[in-house]
Amino acid sequence: MKTWIPDARNFAYLNWKQVDALPRESTLLVLPTAAIEQHGHHLPLATDTLINNLLLGHALAKLPTNAPVYALPPVHYGKSNEHIGFPGTLSVSASTFMAVLRDLGASVSSAGFKRLVIYNTHGGNTALIDVMARDLRAEFKLRTFALHGSAGAKFDGLTAQERAYGFHAGEVETSYLLATVPELVDKSAYTSNYIADVNKPELLAPEFAPATFAWLTRDIAASGVMGDPRPATAENGARWLDQAATKLAAALDAMLRFPLSPAS
Ligand SMILES: [Zn+2]
Repeated sequence: MKTWIPDARNFAYLNWKQVDALPRESTLLVLPTAAIEQHGHHLPLATDTLINNLLLGHALAKLPTNAPVYALPPVHYGKSNEHIGFPGTLSVSASTFMAVLRDLGASVSSAGFKRLVIYNTHGGNTALIDVMARDLRAEFKLRTFALHGSAGAKFDGLTAQERAYGFHAGEVETSYLLATVPELVDKSAYTSNYIADVNKPELLAPEFAPATFAWLTRDIAASGVMGDPRPATAENGARWLDQAATKLAAALDAMLRFPLSPAS
């Protein structure tokens, strides 16, 4: 898999003596979680994994060189059963995913580290990460953090419709890949599909509503795309990448400064 993580920030490039020399209280370890799953006819299975690495790599490059932040190797497989039935989707169960995070948290804690952030770029993992961030805090007293996607970056130039419902293989994800790995984007194979309309709010919506219905992609998006990739450009992708990396770097900096112990 390609990587944009700076070599000096790659935890797995260290040897154990170098790890042993890291300051335990201040070092922040980042555990990336993503997915290998269908992304329509035009994007690769690794899209969420590539975007995770891309955004995290650019964020790490923005931190001061002496900031003790290291990226752990990613958990490539996620809970992707919403995309089951599309060839190529490789999903793990909720219990397997949580067990992997629990065991990695145990390893990090047994080495004496105190700060761990789970950085996730796959929506199907989100609920599990919220659970595990708290469980790792409770079981190991790790100061755990959850960080998602583009950390609240605004994506200037997106329509309200795409901003709300372009969340899988749509304009943003396609633009990120056009800016960085255009050889992995099949521009001749775009399909467009929205699963809800921001101008026609329904009582029951698939996402982002007080009342939701559980959805499977094959029920609501035949091509696997939820969003519209057609307006995607490399220029927007590069700009949004920089904006997201800036937000992510600010979040990582806040985690470095966050108190280890509860306020007294
Ligand atoms: Zn995706």
